[in-house]
Amino acid sequence: MAKIKTVYEDCDILVVGGGMAGTGAAFEARHWGRDLKIICVEKANIDRSGAVAQGLYAINCYMGMQWGENQPEDHVRYARNDLMGLVREDLGYDMARHVDSSVHMFDEWGLPMMRNEKTGRYLREGKWQIMIHGESYKPIVAEAAKKSADKIYNRVMITHLLMDESKDNRVGGAVGFNMRTGNFHVFRAKAVIVAAGGASHIFKPRAVGEGMGRTWYAPWSNGSAYALPIAVGAKMTQMENRIVLTRFKDGYGPVGAYFLHLKTYTQNANGENYEEKWYDQTKELVGDYIDHTPVPTCLRNHAFIEEVKAGRGPIQMVTTEAFQDPHLEEIGWENFLGMTVGQAVVWASQDIDPKYTNPELTTSEPYVMGSHATCSGAWVSGPEDLSPPEYFWGYNRMLTVDGLFGAGDTVGGSAHKFSSGSFTEGRLAAKAAVKYIEDLKAEDINVSEKQCEDFKEVIYKPLENYTIGQNEITGGTVSPSYILPIQGLQRLQKIMDEYVGGVGVNYMTNDNLLKRGLELLATLQEDLEHIGAEDYHQLMRAWELKHRTLTSQCVTEHTLFREETRWPGYYYRGDHMKLDDENWHCLTVSRRDPKTGKFTLEKAPLYHIVDEKEENESA
Ligand SMILES: Cc1cc2nc3c(=O)[nH]c(=O)nc-3n(C[C@H](O)[C@H](O)[C@H](O)COP(=O)(O)OP(=O)(O)OC[C@H]3O[C@@H](n4cnc5c(N)ncnc54)[C@H](O)[C@@H]3O)c2cc1C
Repeated sequence: MAKIKTVYEDCDILVVGGGMAGTGAAFEARHWGRDLKIICVEKANIDRSGAVAQGLYAINCYMGMQWGENQPEDHVRYARNDLMGLVREDLGYDMARHVDSSVHMFDEWGLPMMRNEKTGRYLREGKWQIMIHGESYKPIVAEAAKKSADKIYNRVMITHLLMDESKDNRVGGAVGFNMRTGNFHVFRAKAVIVAAGGASHIFKPRAVGEGMGRTWYAPWSNGSAYALPIAVGAKMTQMENRIVLTRFKDGYGPVGAYFLHLKTYTQNANGENYEEKWYDQTKELVGDYIDHTPVPTCLRNHAFIEEVKAGRGPIQMVTTEAFQDPHLEEIGWENFLGMTVGQAVVWASQDIDPKYTNPELTTSEPYVMGSHATCSGAWVSGPEDLSPPEYFWGYNRMLTVDGLFGAGDTVGGSAHKFSSGSFTEGRLAAKAAVKYIEDLKAEDINVSEKQCEDFKEVIYKPLENYTIGQNEITGGTVSPSYILPIQGLQRLQKIMDEYVGGVGVNYMTNDNLLKRGLELLATLQEDLEHIGAEDYHQLMRAWELKHRTLTSQCVTEHTLFREETRWPGYYYRGDHMKLDDENWHCLTVSRRDPKTGKFTLEKAPLYHIVDEKEENESA
């Protein structure tokens, strides 16, 4: 341990994660806090990090208010409908009213936007999506962050938040390590914005072995956004609301542009429209929600899953008609080249030409995130002018720990933010964090040397476990004294898959399975004390796994608490197969006691701030 160098950095605002939300936060923090010291810490390199690393083909959240295309109210209705009634409408409205200004900045900064030749407006892919040549999306927003922050630390993974020792429940910074140099980094900060992305790889992926990294959500999204706040006792919401995606099989290529722009459609193996066949059965489960327009994403998944269970798979996307048009064929391929090159490679390697073969679709393993079509994440304060008292405690996007803010995938309850909305939420959080500091709420923070040194010991322990334990084996990777990160990861995925509703059980779980899953997760937590890492890269894998496991415990607790099947197609509670609005038209909120590790759960009221009268007009 003596060999490990400690690097100290004191700052005003610390941004953890330089993805879409983190870059937005760094940019906006500078705008409001001209003289503040702003630091951004990123596990990878912000030029190509996070879910947008490879680029995107569409910005999925743009109102188009300047042209009267949509208003924020419309977006709230849309997200509420898609999430079966349960969203934080204050957060959604707040993001939606600001998101256009973020997109206009991307345009100014040089992001190639597609335009409608007739109207001159941004080219719409759907009601909310606009099309871009988005390979350069991430480097462009990274540049804005680099110009705004005092310093960007790349290749530093944050493992723990520091807490103020002079005032209860106030954040004091964060610690982590550089996975190339091995240096220990201490960031003492007045306010921390967690923007560390969602969680993939906590459920067993469909692609295993040689295809292990092939998941829909970025495989490096490891749940730090949830584990960091959970570990210090911040409240979380809707963590049961994991998401399952219908995507092209094996490459996870997105289907949005195919449905919306190419007007392709799905069919079962017999060439039948299967969705309508499941209408009556779905109505039995969820009542009128099946009649909403557009049909909520989870319910479309439900029909897919049932049809495959009934033995009429594979489900295919009918591309052979649209691809006869050379223009649409070009768009179909380009759609992947700008954001999911792997899908094009998979098709090439499997001899699939979508002009002549209708490619298979699949439903993915579940993911946990707060920025896509789902709501998992931290329980945060909303904006002063919109939020009812239960949703407001002083500063926009502040978690239930003072001085700790969140944005993007971190924040729960506000679905359908996507890239532009996450960047916008980073801006909102940063503006509030600056105000928090200016209001002198972060004075006299005390983070002792001891607190940092204690973390240093904990963080590097896996290296020590390996160094000592490897002497007991003569070859191979199985040790009596430690488990390797990959072994622990596979155990976690198996537990989550079998007990918490993964692909292996057709997304089904129940009270007994969840309780057993919690027991197995607790044992895994104990065993993770003995995880071994052979180098700094594996040390990162070890900490990624620890964050995934804590996130998984929270997901499982939430899934156990909500005694209904609110989102069939995302997961099923076999012991409560129906949606139950009478008892569960509410948000779920959890808190893990940092001292005991025990979770407590409660129901939080759901406020409908936007009226419902035009609900069915969103398309
Ligand atoms: C496959 C896919 C397709 C998508 N398609 C679209 C689309 O077409 N249009 C659209 O608008 N949106 C799309 N999205 C959604 C969009 O990418 C996300 O909404 C957005 O990136 C979320 O922003 P974020 O900052 O919360 O997370 P991210 O952008 O993922 O950023 C998180 C950052 O935190 C870093 N990090 C994680 N843990 C740590 C740690 N412990 N310490 C330090 N750094 C850490 C990560 O390296 C990463 O850079 C898509 C997402 C995916 C995965």
